[in-house]
Amino acid sequence: MSEFSRAASLETRAVHLPQPPIEGSRPIAVPIYQTSGFTFDDPAVMADAMSRPDGAFVYGRYTNPTVRSLEQAVSGLEGGAAAIATGSGMGAINTVLLALLKPGDHLIAQRSLYGGTAAMINELVSRFGITVTYVPENDPEALRLAARPETRLVYLETISNPMTLVADLPGMFAAARDLGIVSVVDNTFATPMLCRPVEHGADVVLHSTTKYLGGHTDVVGGLAVFADQGLYERVWHFAIELGASADPFASWLTLRGLQTLALRMERHCANAALLATRLAEHEAVTAVHWPGLASHPSYELAGKLLTGFGGVFSFDLAGGRAAGERFMRSVRLALLAPSLGGVETLVLHPATTSHRALNAEELARSGIGEGTVRIAVGIEHPEDLWADLAQALT
Ligand SMILES: *Cc1c(COP(=O)(O)O)cnc(C)c1O
Repeated sequence: MSEFSRAASLETRAVHLPQPPIEGSRPIAVPIYQTSGFTFDDPAVMADAMSRPDGAFVYGRYTNPTVRSLEQAVSGLEGGAAAIATGSGMGAINTVLLALLKPGDHLIAQRSLYGGTAAMINELVSRFGITVTYVPENDPEALRLAARPETRLVYLETISNPMTLVADLPGMFAAARDLGIVSVVDNTFATPMLCRPVEHGADVVLHSTTKYLGGHTDVVGGLAVFADQGLYERVWHFAIELGASADPFASWLTLRGLQTLALRMERHCANAALLATRLAEHEAVTAVHWPGLASHPSYELAGKLLTGFGGVFSFDLAGGRAAGERFMRSVRLALLAPSLGGVETLVLHPATTSHRALNAEELARSGIGEGTVRIAVGIEHPEDLWADLAQALT
């Protein structure tokens, strides 16, 4: 408390709170800096802070010490130069796409995309005069053929939803580099524990931290990691105008989750391996789509690119739509819910929920059947999970 506020009236003293006296020790956990702004002794330092991303903390929409801690933590895990944390995964995706694209530009994206991203690209096409070409996620030659002089960006997902196709990041990014195109990848399903796309040539790595990084189904957030400081600064200037910024408390929850990410990913992957293997042998199941199974089209690539096959997969029920809906009503431990990446096992029926807008032909093209079930495997005991799935299948 300043000399001034000690002498002031009660009304004024209630406003000017004392700061916690920290000298000679430090907090172990990252504190929540729940403040929207920062005060300065020197106006020149304040002016500097407002004009560049690595100056002093100035205003919550720019960043905040708790948010910065998350940005540095994930950027470090991904091997990037810097990161921007956002209020949601879509906030990170849109910040990057809108910062790097303008009317007349062309974008190349993989065919199977997260629903929100696919919808946003449709907006860019219909309302912002941007064009798009879709290519398979593992075909660098198709990328080369799709490129035009106005192509600015290639957009991939390390592991797709719900068929878990693995993108050929080294091949696709090498082609993008030759063509002078910015490489962007959504690494939400893999996390830096299973894949670090910057090592394979990515310029921008996106996350919905709502999923595995947060990991406890209690916070929504997003983050964009940049391999290069120059690209980061370019996007940062736009990001503070767009305002999709992360909140300190949300960032604090995400940091808390991040500390156990390595352990959780091991368990998610091990549980998924057990369930995928047993489901593949079950008579009610016609196919299992998990890249750790030799029958999966991405099996070989996944073995080279990933240090684990992930905790999300899908499987097809022999009984079609009716069997899918019956399964959803029969699970007891697994919860019927959207989202993924939390400690609890979640299931959903894409044909009637996440992909309900697609007709039968579009569903077939994306590989999703009427009887396809998506499971986001949690960290419960695997035998309890198997017992639940087995009873729901009979
Ligand atoms: C959930 C998700 C998003 C969107 O993230 P939000 O935090 O829901 O905005 C983007 N990409 C992938 C792969 C996701 O799973």
